[in-house]
Amino acid sequence: MQPTGKLFIITDTTVGRLYGRTLQREFAGGGNDVVLLDIPPGEGSKNHRSVHALHTQLLKGGVGRDSFVIALGGGVVGDVAGYVAATILRGIPFIQIPTTLLAQVDSSVGGKVGVDHPLGKNLIGAFHQPAAVYVDPDVLSTLPAAEYRNGLAEVVKIAAALDHRFFADIERNVRNIKSGNARTVIDLIHRAIALKAAVVMKDEKETGLRKVLNLGHTIGHAVETASGFRLRHGEAVSIGLSVEGRIACDMGLMAKKDYRRLVALLTAFRLPTRLPGTMNGKKFLAALAADKKNEKGGTRFVLLKRIGQPVVGVEVPDQFIRSFFQ
Ligand code: ADP
Ligand code: ZN
Repeated sequence: MQPTGKLFIITDTTVGRLYGRTLQREFAGGGNDVVLLDIPPGEGSKNHRSVHALHTQLLKGGVGRDSFVIALGGGVVGDVAGYVAATILRGIPFIQIPTTLLAQVDSSVGGKVGVDHPLGKNLIGAFHQPAAVYVDPDVLSTLPAAEYRNGLAEVVKIAAALDHRFFADIERNVRNIKSGNARTVIDLIHRAIALKAAVVMKDEKETGLRKVLNLGHTIGHAVETASGFRLRHGEAVSIGLSVEGRIACDMGLMAKKDYRRLVALLTAFRLPTRLPGTMNGKKFLAALAADKKNEKGGTRFVLLKRIGQPVVGVEVPDQFIRSFFQ
């Protein structure tokens, strides 16, 4: 797709240094006026201040209804730039060029954009579907190993929730995935995106089916919050997947064998699977309870009956959660 109006590439300073100019030149070659803007890297930029600063830069830069925003970066950039695109002039189109594995397989697909609020993560936002998502697996060559692992946690989640064959293929290919074998990784990204996109297309606004993608995230979000966000999102999701797996076993929903496969796969990717020993239990339970307030009738979990067979809206009695602190 070749947009006609002015283009605003929004990136972070790290990704901008690596790929900003190249992309700017690429689009400018198509005859477009291309402005390159950046925010500092990291979750700390995912707030109203960044959005306001970017709005100002777009308005001063002559943004029009025929302009495009191009998000070049990880999930933070995608969420912020997408939200800027969703809100400026009541919404202009945007393109995602995700550069972390996590953003490629998860956050760039589905149209959820937004920022954090001092009272909680991702509380301010919109649904704004990207006009296109361009994934270039080559950019993963510069991605730090810990960020790569972070993305693998979401891949395992997608496979565990939606496709037992994909899960088994990941198990077979652990070594190639860890070493970043190009063909394996391209196939991995492809399948993860296709699975997620199929779910999102059936339930864009998360009224039903899309909730399966919250597998691992009920516990995951609570751990992430209780850690004061020192844990990366993918690490928290990995812990969430395995703790929720334990809960599913304890409740007699899932067989031990499937739980062991889940933990083994996450461990093979050097992802954490236990609640951190230093975790503040009170904070953790408070974060879980806060989730509860957001949903009528208590915290509802997505749990697995088997790999690839999720059950949505499971009420988990407190005793199964308290057992982790005894
Ligand atoms: P996520 O996609 O996990 O939400 P972020 O947007 O916070 O993560 O990006 C994680 C970090 O990785 C940031 O510091 C960002 O600048 C950096 N980063 C993103 N993509 C690349 C890349 N392709 N090469 C090197 N560093 C990258
Ligand atoms: Zn996630």
